[in-house]
Amino acid sequence: MRHSGGLVIGVDLGGTKMHAAAVDEHGTLLHDEREKTLPEEGADAVIGRIADLCRRITLRLNVPHVELGAVCVGVPGGVDDASGMVDKAPNLRWEKVPLGHLLSTALGGVRVFLDNDVRVAVTGEHAYGCGKGTRTMVGIFVGTGIGGGVIVDGRLHTGTRGVAGELGHMILKPKGPRCPCGNRGCAEALASRTSMERDVRALIAEGHESRVLKMLKKQGRMHLTSSVIAKALEKEDPVMTKVMRRAQHHIGVLVGNVANLLDPEVVVIGGGIAERMGEDFVARIRKVAYERMLVQRDRERVRILPTELKENAAPMGAAYIARQRLSASHPPPRTHTASA
Ligand SMILES: [Zn+2]
Repeated sequence: MRHSGGLVIGVDLGGTKMHAAAVDEHGTLLHDEREKTLPEEGADAVIGRIADLCRRITLRLNVPHVELGAVCVGVPGGVDDASGMVDKAPNLRWEKVPLGHLLSTALGGVRVFLDNDVRVAVTGEHAYGCGKGTRTMVGIFVGTGIGGGVIVDGRLHTGTRGVAGELGHMILKPKGPRCPCGNRGCAEALASRTSMERDVRALIAEGHESRVLKMLKKQGRMHLTSSVIAKALEKEDPVMTKVMRRAQHHIGVLVGNVANLLDPEVVVIGGGIAERMGEDFVARIRKVAYERMLVQRDRERVRILPTELKENAAPMGAAYIARQRLSASHPPPRTHTASA
């Protein structure tokens, strides 16, 4: 099999699992593989598993190792792509890990690029998903936290210091609950899965009837999962329904604010709950957002959609970034030669 410009692999490195995908230059996912992260085994073991994952993909696609052009890893934390350093990734218990250098060495010198996990997912939806072809797009990812990213003029808007797009920390209630960032009343402190769990437990402690905790126990889970949320809602659990409505309301207010600021073509809602519930999650968010738009004319032109790529958004976005940065650093030769 030949891949013009070489094969690229995108990796979504999460605290629980890692997911890698090879994507061709037309945006077709060629093959993907998953593995547990097991951060408790230390950075070297995790990086070894990322390298294994990449090797499994190239073997499966029958690509000689030298044809692997680049790998990009989406990391749950702060990265410095120029030095290949992960500055801080709490879910991995990493601080100052030279991921770029170590992974490149493990893969025999392949170019390795780093980016943030939310940014790669936003890039994926923009390059290949429901934001394809748009000039202005916003991505909001609801998980244990709330991440976000903004595409302006067809490019990820990174800001003056490279820290733009923190939509989860827009303050919706200045006297609201404390957020992990230290502020109060951020969207994340009101509507993340962690916040939903806090509210479910509080209502149950007040004596409200709910089967959510029993369902978690049955699944052997300590914390609220997207699957338990979806099942509890299907069974019309009153506590879960109430908490979900409140979370959807807050996300809707957030989307309304962002729409008033940017007037985007698409707002994509991603993360585990959106992947599982799709339109059932987004419908109420859309309704609240539309009600808050200052200019009501043609408001449907701001399309508020559930993720199209679902769990492939991050690895596919990372693969896209790998191809972009590879071609930026190695422009193809102008003479007609066989691809290396
Ligand atoms: Zn915050």
